[in-house]
Parts: sequence; structure tokens; C-alpha cells
Amino acid sequence: MSDQDHRSFAPPLRMLMGPGPSDVHPRVLAAMARPTIGHLDPEFVSLMDEVKRLLQYAMRTDNDLTFPISAPGSAGMEACLVNLIEPGDEVVVCRNGVFGGRMHSIVERAGGRPVAVDDAWGDPVDVDKVEAALKAHGDAKILAFVHAETSTGALSDAARLAELARAHDCLTVVDAVTSLGGVPLEVDAWGLDAVYSGSQKCLSCAPGLSPVSFSQRAVDRIRARATPVQSWFLDLSLVMGYWGGGAKRAYHHTAPVNAIYGLHEALLMIHEEGLERSWARHRLHHEALVAGLEGLGLRLRGDAAHRLPQLNVVELPAGLDDGAARRQLLDDYGLEVGGGLGDLAGKVWRIGLMGTACSRRNVLGCLAALDDVLR
Ligand code: PLP
Repeated sequence: MSDQDHRSFAPPLRMLMGPGPSDVHPRVLAAMARPTIGHLDPEFVSLMDEVKRLLQYAMRTDNDLTFPISAPGSAGMEACLVNLIEPGDEVVVCRNGVFGGRMHSIVERAGGRPVAVDDAWGDPVDVDKVEAALKAHGDAKILAFVHAETSTGALSDAARLAELARAHDCLTVVDAVTSLGGVPLEVDAWGLDAVYSGSQKCLSCAPGLSPVSFSQRAVDRIRARATPVQSWFLDLSLVMGYWGGGAKRAYHHTAPVNAIYGLHEALLMIHEEGLERSWARHRLHHEALVAGLEGLGLRLRGDAAHRLPQLNVVELPAGLDDGAARRQLLDDYGLEVGGGLGDLAGKVWRIGLMGTACSRRNVLGCLAALDDVLR
């Protein structure tokens, strides 16, 4: 291999309007390029405290155990489930898309006994079915569901589902990977117990971190475990010594220092804008995009009442070559939109309007590109 075969990677300029990652704001990229310091440096420890406070703001919680796991959203999912499940526990798992299915498979691997509540892809989780499952499985310990299903664009009623869980003495495990920052997520007011998200969606941050938050009820459950968590890295009783706060931070693993700089900057930007304003901006540009798509003769899937503003699922015109059309969007316009997953592959596109990429400029740019490519 000659020396010429190796050079620095220069990524092309893209407009990321798929299901994530979304565009990372230049402020976040600049923050990540700052000099690395030690992960136990007092300055870094103060930054960790601030990241925790900003995450508490973004997740609307006073939960002390609120921090980013040093790994992507799937690790947050796994951390919530493996810490709360003990072998043999019954867990009601709602499956209305890909990510509910992933939760189900983690429950099985963690030795739990999943009770699936299935809904059609595109529908929100049916609260009546969940209530029936909780009644039929009185020993169930956990209710697990996805708040914003990225595979279908459906938003479920997390407040109502959490209310049902409490009434049946269950803890909730809630996937907020796509919801955090884009639609209301009220961890304390809704009484959610274990919530995980991802850095790469409406936080406009680079992929690779998973903010999580645990209620006191969840922490008590973890402390009362009779069996050790089978994962060393994700065992929260160990991680708590590092992220749990207080002056003394025990070494657990080497934190991804520069990634945390980026998350801090992204959270600062949400704080500067204000959460309510961020939610309203997502709604505004979603409505503009939908009006434009309908103007192009395209139809959105799913009932408007349960549609996510940050993830728009559009039915493809009959006969369109999905792969070729998305390739043309990428080559001619630098625009990335997402294809359909599972049963929806080849039938829909998923157009993301996430975080700071949820802007008038992106809506207009996307509509102009679609007008050309689909014409
Ligand atoms: N849950 C949902 C709803 C998601 O959309 C995703 C990723 O797209 C995940 C979980 C998994 O996150 P990651 O890909 O960061 O592991």
C-alpha cells in the first residue's frame, strides 16, 4: 500500500434530514475541538456537574441520577432495562415499531419475561391494551415503551402510560431518544422512572452519548437488587460513584471528554433558546414542511394527532426507485433523508426536522430538492 492511499478524511457537506444523526451545530463541533483535559481534572468535574444540571433542565427533572452514558442510545436502553430487571421478572413491553422490538429482545437477554403489547406500525401505543396487559399480569414489575417511535413517526401518550404503570405498581422504562428537545417530555410531572435518550437527534450533538435519568423509585429498586447486574460497564451501582455527584468522583471508565464538551454546548443552546420555544419551533417547521409536501402531491402516513413534528413519514409515489431517488438527493443536493425500516422499506421516506436543523432554510431546501427529484 503506498503512502498516497492514506489521507485525512474530509466529509462532504450534507444537510442531514433523516432519522438521525441530525446536523451538528458548528458551536457544538467547535466545542468538541477544544483541548482534551483529564477526565478527573477539577475543571472537567465541574463541567460534569453543569452537564447534569443542563440535562435536568432539558428532561424536566430534579432526579439526582441524571447523566450521559458514554455510549449511544441503545446502551441507554440496555442500561435502563438491565439495571431494573432481575431474572424471572415480568416486563410489559410495547411494540409499535423497531425500537419497542429492540427493548423486547433486551428484556429476554436480561433474563426477564417479556409480555408484548403489539400495535400496528404507525399507530401510537394503545393505552387500553396496555391496561389490559397490566391487569392480566399483576406481577409485572416494569412497563417499557417508546415515546417517539423513529421507525414510524408515532408519538405515544407517555403521561397516561406512566399513570397506568403507577396504578399497577410498575416502574416505567421510557425511550426518549427522538422525543427529547423536539416535543414535550416531562420526566417528573409524568412520573417516569427510567428514561434514556440520544445525543444525535433533537439535541443537535454528535452521536455516541445517551442521556439517562432515574427516579428515586428506580434507584431504590436498583439498590435493593438481589442479583448483580450482568453487565459491568452498565451497572449503575458502579457508575453512580462517578456520575452520582459530590466532591469525590471514583474512576469508573475514561469519559469521552470531548464528546461531553459537545453535549454541554448543545444543552447550553437548548437552555438559551428555552425548551418551550424549541418545541414550538419544531411544530412550526413541521407544519410548513407538511403543507409543502402536500403541495407536491405527497401524503404523510399516520394520524395527524400522533405525528412527530421532528420525524415526518412520507408515502412514496408508486413506481419510484427509492434507492436511486435518495442517491440523487445526496449527490445533487447533499440532502440525506431516511428510507423506511422493516415493512416500510421502499414504501416511505423519513424526513427529520431535528434540533437546530429544524429550520426554515432546511424546510425550503428539502422541498426544492424533492420537487426536482420526484418530478
Ligand atoms: N430508540 C430510538 C427511538 C431510536 O430512534 C434509536 C436510534 O435511532 C435508538 C433507540 C437507538 O439509538 P442509537 O442508534 O444511538 O444506539
